[in-house]
Amino acid sequence: MPNHKILIVEDEEAIAHVMESILSANGYTPLPARTGGQALTLATVHNPDLILLDLGLPDIDGIEVLRHIRQWGQTPVLVVSARDQEKQKVEALDLGANDYITKPFGSSELLARIRAALRQRAGALDSSAAPPEQYSSGGLTVDFDKRQVRVDGLDIHLTQIEYKIVEFLARQPGRVLTHDAIMVYVWGPYLTDDNKILRVNMANIRRKLEKNPAEPRYIQTEMGVGYRIADEDN
Ligand code: CA
Repeated sequence: MPNHKILIVEDEEAIAHVMESILSANGYTPLPARTGGQALTLATVHNPDLILLDLGLPDIDGIEVLRHIRQWGQTPVLVVSARDQEKQKVEALDLGANDYITKPFGSSELLARIRAALRQRAGALDSSAAPPEQYSSGGLTVDFDKRQVRVDGLDIHLTQIEYKIVEFLARQPGRVLTHDAIMVYVWGPYLTDDNKILRVNMANIRRKLEKNPAEPRYIQTEMGVGYRIADEDN
């Protein structure tokens, strides 16, 4: 297993220490930064494989740190945010952050997000690899060639719009996608930013895919942010 370097940008000592020990215990090399300034320096010097970025930093705003990082390259960035920072989370995702995790979080959630982001980066770097032909998680399969969606082996009939939404999510397993990102992919950039049409379509998708649409297994709502499809079976 490669020894990935992970830059932890977090000014709260206690949280930073917890993250450092979780990462060390799981074979990653943590690089701690307590300020945005330190983060930018360490990112340049060490070229980490992934960056965990707190949005509330004492010197530079986390969003500004992200802007700088995205000017240089595509290092995966996981935003670490507080519960009341929905607007900043969405802004960070639309600026190119790969995902976010909300404090307080458990170690398994943190590790799952890190694995998903590193896997996406590996896929993006390996340009010779063919794009995946199918997505599969807990009984849900999406065949991208045949444009076929199945649950427990049974064909599910989706409208073209519904299929496009599911396909977009399924091509990025385990990753949160913002309302805006989905809307632009499905309807293009000219639609109003009212996401009611997306919510209506998602309700229809869930009625077709989920045994209990009120407690979805496959596509989770990220309140105020967007949607996330379940990570793939390993
Ligand atoms: Ca903070």
